[in-house]
Amino acid sequence: MAKKNYKQLGCLDVDPNGGCAFMVRAETEDEVMRLAGDHAKIAHKMVSPPPEVLAKVKAAIKSVTVDA
Ligand SMILES: [Zn+2]
Repeated sequence: MAKKNYKQLGCLDVDPNGGCAFMVRAETEDEVMRLAGDHAKIAHKMVSPPPEVLAKVKAAIKSVTVDA
């Protein structure tokens, strides 16, 4: 069975007490950041996250391997 690597990010990874179970998975970190940005805008009304938040989000991205 083929394995595929993804980048994964969950709201709970960024803010464990946030209570938002949103999770995104994409092939590249850039794509994860884009999708997470859309989610942040819509769900958290965060239109332009400050640099410290972006750094926290980037640090929370992890690599996962999934059966393709
Ligand atoms: Zn969220």
